[in-house]
Formats: sequence, structure tokens, C-alpha cells
Amino acid sequence: MHHRDTWVEIDLDRISDNVSMIKRHSGFDHLFAVVKANAYGHGDVEVARAALAAGADMLSVAFLDEALFLRRAIKAAPILVMGAIRPCDLAVAAEHDIHVTAHDLQWIESVLNYQGKAVNVHLKIDTGMHRLGMTDADSVQHACAMLDTNPALLRTGIFTHFATADGETRQGYEAQLAKVTELTSKIDLADFKLVHLSNSAALLRFGRQSVANAGRLGISMYGLPPSHAFALPFELKQAFSLHSRIVQVKELQAGDAVSYGATFMADKPMRIGILPIGYADGWLRYHQGRQVEINGKRYSLVGRICMDQCMVQIDERVHLGDRVDLINDSLSVEDAARDLNTIGYEIVCSISDRVPRVYKQGGVVVSARNDRFRPVA
Ligand SMILES: *Cc1c(COP(=O)(O)O)cnc(C)c1O
Repeated sequence: MHHRDTWVEIDLDRISDNVSMIKRHSGFDHLFAVVKANAYGHGDVEVARAALAAGADMLSVAFLDEALFLRRAIKAAPILVMGAIRPCDLAVAAEHDIHVTAHDLQWIESVLNYQGKAVNVHLKIDTGMHRLGMTDADSVQHACAMLDTNPALLRTGIFTHFATADGETRQGYEAQLAKVTELTSKIDLADFKLVHLSNSAALLRFGRQSVANAGRLGISMYGLPPSHAFALPFELKQAFSLHSRIVQVKELQAGDAVSYGATFMADKPMRIGILPIGYADGWLRYHQGRQVEINGKRYSLVGRICMDQCMVQIDERVHLGDRVDLINDSLSVEDAARDLNTIGYEIVCSISDRVPRVYKQGGVVVSARNDRFRPVA
């Protein structure tokens, strides 16, 4: 499967546990598992299967190509593309039963004389994020009227996205909810099978809205907190860990420098280990100086992170071939995000397709896949 001493491990049981806990907590009838960006770096097909088995009943992604890749493995579940798809690609989406997003009147006009297999359309309304979506009640009403002139365009869903559900106060969330009411005042929400507003933060923090019957579950399904601004209603379980192995042990003398730019110099005789992971794997140069764990003990990365390798200062307890944890339960995704002044989302999405993903379920490895070697249609 792969031939490399660096790998990501995904604990699928933890994803299942997160999904079922959140579903119970949210009270929604329907739940999209958001598996865009290769399931936030976790592996889209495997995560999708685990999430569907645990209580999610639909999938969503950002782009049509992601949806088409998933569709080859997952035949039954609805898949929604939340981003803008090109009008010329509507037939491809319909052919593979992919739900699409209608985000403005111009887009609807450009697909209005579409004739072909019926396609499920979700209206996107912009209630304050100022990203994709329609911004006034007349446009929303007009959009519905236009869609209703073409029986091949099924008016299936309506949704919005919260900009500050993860923020310090609930003010922004409340304002966006009020805007949902305003933007839908000239249509009947009961005409839509699916009304979905919430992301992870809104799901965990505010629960079900009376007008909604579904939510979109992203980061929290992976066991990562959407924010530190509010307390989680229960503990999430991080599914992602990153590992490597020592492939060479080297003795340094005082004055020996390590890696490009000689930014680290041994001040006494010491040992370092070489790790086969670098910034091309998404283990960014910013990680210079971070700690890793070997046999339960912490050690520091020294010198610049290279494209394919980096170095760790070790002691006599560490040997060739020892496993190195770069991210695990105690060196969490959140810790790495805090240290790099970013968010957990960015840490897991950054680990590139060059790193094989290994899946565990019931404590045993169930499959391993390197996304670089995805089959091409
Ligand atoms: C990514 C995304 C989500 C998931 O958000 P999380 O914060 O990861 O739960 C939901 N809806 C839309 C439109 C998105 O783009």
C-alpha cells in the first residue's frame, strides 16, 4: 500500500462516536457529514462511510469534483456541492445524482433552460457572512418562481452559513437567524424538504432552530472544537494523529550545525534523529522547535524543517526505527494550531496527500490508502 515511515492514523470509532453524540444533542432529523477537502485531510470515503453508519444521512463537499470522487464509492447517500458549480456542469451533476447550490439569480437564469435528468437544487441565502448566496427577499422569491418554471430543477433545500456562531457572543448568530426569517418572508419554507443552517459551532452551541430540520457537521465530527469561545456540551474525540519513525541516528559534536541556514548549533555533544517528514507533507517550517513524543517522552525538533525531512534532538533512550508522534492525544491538533497562531482546521487540512492515511476501527487497522494513488476515472 505504501512504502514510507510517515503516516496519518484515523480512528474511525472516534468519528462514529462524535457523529452519534452530536446527532443526539442537536435534535435534527437529518445531518450532512461535511467531507470537503478530503474530509479535512482525514480521507473522504472512509469518513463518509463511518459518518453514514453512525447517523449522518447525507454528505456535503465544496466542489463537484469532490462529489464525483465520492460518488464512485458511495452510491446511495445524497451528496451536496455547497460551492458554486459551473452552469455547464449541471448535467454531469445530475447524471451522478449530486445536489447543487443555486447562489444567485444570474446562475439560475443560466441554467433555466436545462433539460435532462432532474437535479436537486438547494438555494443559498446570505444572511451576513457575505460570501455565497442571495441577499434579499425579492431575489429569493424570484429564484423560487424561476426554478418552478423548470420541472428538471427540483427545489429541494435552502441553507445559509453562520459567520460568528463560534464567536464570543451570540449576537451575530441571532442577527443572522433574524435575517433568515426576513429573506424567506415571501416564500413558504414548507416547500423545501431540507432547511439547513447550522455548522458545527451552531449545532453544538445552539441546537436545532425551529425552522430547520438538518445541520451540516464538519470540524466537530473529526473531534476538533470549532472554537474556544464556548464550552462544548460534551467531550469530542480527536480522530487524527500523525506519526513517523527515526530513520537515522547521528552523533553531533559541539559546534555542529543542523539543517539549512545552520539555525541550530549543538552546544555540546548530542544525538539527533532524522525523520522522513517535511513541509511538502504539510509539516510546515513553522513547526521548527516544536516538541514531538517518542516512547512517551517529549523531544524538540531542531533546525529548519526541510521539504522531505526534519531533525529531532534525542537521548540514549531513543533508537533507530522508534515511532515518533508528531500529533497525538497529548500533542493535540489544537496545541499545534495554537502554537502556529492558526486553527485546527488548517493543521489537518495541511497534511498533504503524500502522507498515507491508515484507518483504525475496533482497535485494529482496517485499511490504508494513499490518496496520491486515487484511481482516475
Ligand atoms: C465547511 C462548511 C461547513 C462545516 O463547517 P464546520 O465549522 O467545519 O462544522 C458547513 N457549511 C458550509 C457552507 C461550509 O462551507
